Amino acid sequence: MPSAPMDRLRERVRGQMVTPADAGYDEARRVYNAMIDRRPAVVVRCVDAADVMAAVDHARDHGMDLSVRGGSHSVPGFGTNDGGVVVDLSRMRGVRVDPLTHTARAEGGCTWGDFDHATHAFGLATTGGIVSSTGIGGLTLGGGIGYLARRFGLTVDNLESVDVVTAAGRQVVASDKSHEDLFWAVRGGGGNFGVVTSFEYQLHPVRDVVAGLFFYPVERAGDVLDFYRSYIDTAPEEMGAYPAFHLAPPLPFIPPEEHGRPFSVIIACWSGPADRAERALEPIRRAAPIVAEHVDTVPYPAMNTLFDELLPPGLQHYWKTAFATELTDGAIRAHLEYGPRVPAVNTAVHLYPINGACHRVPSDATAFAYRDARFATVIAGMWPDPADNAANTAWVRDYYRALEPHSTGGGYVNFMADDDQARVHDSYRDNYARLAAVKRAYDPDNLFHLNQNIPPAD
Ligand SMILES: Cc1cc2nc3c(=O)[nH]c(=O)nc-3n(C[C@H](O)[C@H](O)[C@H](O)COP(=O)(O)OP(=O)(O)OC[C@H]3O[C@@H](n4cnc5c(N)ncnc54)[C@H](O)[C@@H]3O)c2cc1C
Repeated sequence: MPSAPMDRLRERVRGQMVTPADAGYDEARRVYNAMIDRRPAVVVRCVDAADVMAAVDHARDHGMDLSVRGGSHSVPGFGTNDGGVVVDLSRMRGVRVDPLTHTARAEGGCTWGDFDHATHAFGLATTGGIVSSTGIGGLTLGGGIGYLARRFGLTVDNLESVDVVTAAGRQVVASDKSHEDLFWAVRGGGGNFGVVTSFEYQLHPVRDVVAGLFFYPVERAGDVLDFYRSYIDTAPEEMGAYPAFHLAPPLPFIPPEEHGRPFSVIIACWSGPADRAERALEPIRRAAPIVAEHVDTVPYPAMNTLFDELLPPGLQHYWKTAFATELTDGAIRAHLEYGPRVPAVNTAVHLYPINGACHRVPSDATAFAYRDARFATVIAGMWPDPADNAANTAWVRDYYRALEPHSTGGGYVNFMADDDQARVHDSYRDNYARLAAVKRAYDPDNLFHLNQNIPPAD
């Protein structure tokens, strides 16, 4: 009879356990952000909910830190820890599509690439991430912003039910009909409430989209932002478009002499009827003189791979974020000061719109509280060389500080940094007290604390 705790865990787990003694440990402990270098006691590569229950029980019973990892994209590195247990869901990636009900059930370790691939075969999609390697788990639980959000709402607005392994090590189904409070809390409350082993989503008919990339001189960024702030309020909801600052990547449609230079950019995804695409894109084309543009009809999953090559695992990441109800003149001035200094071709400054269908959901209907925000800005610092960490982190911080007076207090929890814990309360505003109460009911000892944490109510 095995007696050591790790042996008992091994007896219960059908997937793979990787400890520091095992070959492959360095690969198993690695996360997407190469700045994070932690050494958990065990990574449990779960294959089913039973494995997840075993790993949760082990962490709880032995007072160990517990991380949950799906796509591994957490910039603060919540998907790993020092000396604790990692529930790695990356082997749980099945997706079942029901074409009759237009729903899909996806296991907790799926990436958006997995999900889009599976649903696209049925001509169906839902709001998801714009990079295919991002996990559905973390992205959904924090809210979920993507090209289809203006039309179909946030990812959480498309959630029908979840299977959750709670801190007690038991799995429950949470939906509008059972564990309603838990279902409310996981729609925006992040990984605070348990391990979601599968998500059920509502799907919509979306097959091909028209992708538009518009590069304007960075000196005209003020015109572009001024155009965008009024345009996006009334643009058809089939238009998922956001302004950005980028260094021009070496793409064939961009003149070679412009590669590596800073640009004001609008990235557009038209999911409406193809014959209306040109007319819908026309105002964007006229926002300012165009240096380079590319418009093409692509399968929806391909749209969500646009940035993939720029964003391999192993980059350094430091991000900051802010919600804003208005894109004020002051905010535009801050963007004009820092946006043109975007430091690396991998770095992205994106101003995602929160409007349309996102605004039709009341702010207390799900945990995602900022239904009146109109812009979610992310300063996504990403670069390859650790030697640039100090300078690039300072650029992200300075940029954020300049935007802060023109922003609401809270931010989108999925874009927040590890030094943003003090902003969690503001990010949930009036929903915070209810979240803390749900936390007390489902995780009274705060086992799930490696996240933008909501401690249990007293
Ligand atoms: C390159 C890149 C692109 C991005 N694009 C978008 C985007 O288009 N839209 C958007 O809204 N966000 C986007 N994000 C932010 C993204 O939503 C968060 O980084 C999110 O946490 C990633 O989820 P993950 O499963 O990949 O990460 P992980 O590191 O695996 O998980 C992050 C945390 O989420 C929780 N978690 C994850 N899965 C589960 C689960 N099954 N059950 C319980 N808790 C879980 C845990 O607390 C975990 O520590 C992007 C991030 C990156 C790095």
